[in-house]
Amino acid sequence: MEQDPSPEPLHLHAGGGRRGFSTRAIHFGYDPAQNQGALVPPIYTSSTFAFPDTAYGSRCFAGEERGYFYTRISNPTLALLESRLASLEEGAAAVVFGSGMGAITSVLWTLLQPGDEVLADLTLYGCTFAFLQHGLGRFGVAVRHVDMGDLEQVAQAMRPNTRAVYFETPANPNMRMADIAAVARLAHEAGACVVVDNTYCTPYLQQPLTLGADVSVHSMTKYLGGHGDLTAGAAVFADGELAQRVRLQGLKDMTGAVMSAQDAHLVMRGLKTLSLRMDRHCRSAQAIAELLDAHAQTAVVHYPGLPDFPQHALARRQMKLSGGMVAFELKGGLQAGVRFMDALSLVTRAVSLGDAETLAQHPASMTHSTYTPEERRAHGIDDGLVRLSIGLEDLADISVDIAQALDRCAS
Ligand SMILES: *Cc1c(COP(=O)(O)O)cnc(C)c1O
Repeated sequence: MEQDPSPEPLHLHAGGGRRGFSTRAIHFGYDPAQNQGALVPPIYTSSTFAFPDTAYGSRCFAGEERGYFYTRISNPTLALLESRLASLEEGAAAVVFGSGMGAITSVLWTLLQPGDEVLADLTLYGCTFAFLQHGLGRFGVAVRHVDMGDLEQVAQAMRPNTRAVYFETPANPNMRMADIAAVARLAHEAGACVVVDNTYCTPYLQQPLTLGADVSVHSMTKYLGGHGDLTAGAAVFADGELAQRVRLQGLKDMTGAVMSAQDAHLVMRGLKTLSLRMDRHCRSAQAIAELLDAHAQTAVVHYPGLPDFPQHALARRQMKLSGGMVAFELKGGLQAGVRFMDALSLVTRAVSLGDAETLAQHPASMTHSTYTPEERRAHGIDDGLVRLSIGLEDLADISVDIAQALDRCAS
């Protein structure tokens, strides 16, 4: 793997040997001794950085100097977070952004030109779908959707101008999964770049780059931040040279989706407890999925940890645990779903996910209203689907609330 040509993070310390995931999430890339003893890394709020002389400034702009010069391109606080994310997800480099959509659009704008084609999965986060379906086409980029869970379809769909293959696994909101290693093999045979949205899993549950993906994108607004108090995104790259292109084209010139240093500090605070939080999210989600599955009112429960989940074997192979997201449909369809949502009392009706609070939302009228009803049908998003992001409250309290809402939605 190539080295990241962007500036060094604050003060990388070599440490002895390879440390574990949680240790790196807390310590990687930072040495208090180099920062006045500060346990917590300083927040560099400066938008610009002084040049010791004019020639140094010119070298920075020419890309010949690895110094900091303007925060939209690089900043010491952002660089520390980038180095941590690259370490956690086994990448050569990472670039952070002001939102998940900022990450996704910056990566795709950098990869694509008119005449290229993107092959995308059927089910995607609503705004990603809108960007692909209603945005890119205006700039001469074709987008086609296939079921990434069907490798035969994927192989047949590759064309000489297929430049990028894009998918989420598990997909938002219906949890359909794709085999990252198998799709990456097919995409690479056709010369396409593989971009996986790893928001649902985080690097703790799934490592797309080690399975052959080229880029892993995240909405850090979700689990990585983890507390519902920031908006941010990231892309982690197997190849440092592509990371640098995305930084200098997609981020610097095309989207300008720069992240704030204060938010980078909050994400680093979130990362310290990522493994603990994910263990708890996953344990509670498994229990809630089983509760839903056993209830007379549910028609289908989509959760990778259920033995009858169609891609249960793939989930066990590809994910460390089954995740904190659960989707389900009620026998009474959309109307029962609305009754269920309105009957909740502890569980909060809100979009987003990965927070400490358990959240419930209705994709067809909320996050996935960017799809037309026909598109939702064609892309496997049932209008009756309810999506839960299982939080960190006591499992007994979450269970009681969901059970009482299920009982009431029947009437
Ligand atoms: C939320 C989300 C995004 C978009 O991220 P923002 O931070 O809201 O811009 C992209 N992909 C997935 C899977 C998401 O859940």
